[in-house]
Amino acid sequence: MASALYPGTFDPVHRGHLDVVERAARIFDHVVVAVLENPDKRPVFSVDEREGFLRAALSDISNVTVTRFGGLTVACAKEHGTSVILRGLRAVLDFDYEVQLAMMNRHLEPTVETFFMLTKSRYAYLSSSLVKQMAKFDAPVEEFVTPPVAEALRRLAVPKA
Ligand code: ADP
Repeated sequence: MASALYPGTFDPVHRGHLDVVERAARIFDHVVVAVLENPDKRPVFSVDEREGFLRAALSDISNVTVTRFGGLTVACAKEHGTSVILRGLRAVLDFDYEVQLAMMNRHLEPTVETFFMLTKSRYAYLSSSLVKQMAKFDAPVEEFVTPPVAEALRRLAVPKA
């Protein structure tokens, strides 16, 4: 049975991430979406919130589960009995970093392979940082995120002087 682990910070999840999970769920028997606690990145949303947004968005897909992790991605993959790490790629922007991560993960655990899934062109410029910045300045984000995330993002808006 082929399963995949899709790890990320998801601060917050957006439609580019969801599209990767939806497509992966049609290819793999099971997809585990794993939210990295990652205090180094100082996430705006708590791990509970980030996990909650993902659970709500993905509850209709029966072969997807959502979890969290705090250590090495390869350790999380082993724990879930999968030998595939799935990552999304936007433009060249992601490439160097993703190759570096994949190489290091292969060094740490040669039995785990990293699979890359290309974003849909309409999400190529979408990132969690960008939706947070847009929300901060009250730009509409509904097109890019689910309603609960849009609602939570509205709380980030800088009050108008
Ligand atoms: P991380 O901190 O691990 O990079 P992110 O939440 O930023 O976590 O991203 C998780 C994964 O989703 C990464 O593989 C990233 O490249 C991918 N990703 C981010 N934005 C998009 C997008 N618009 N389309 C497809 N994949 C994306």
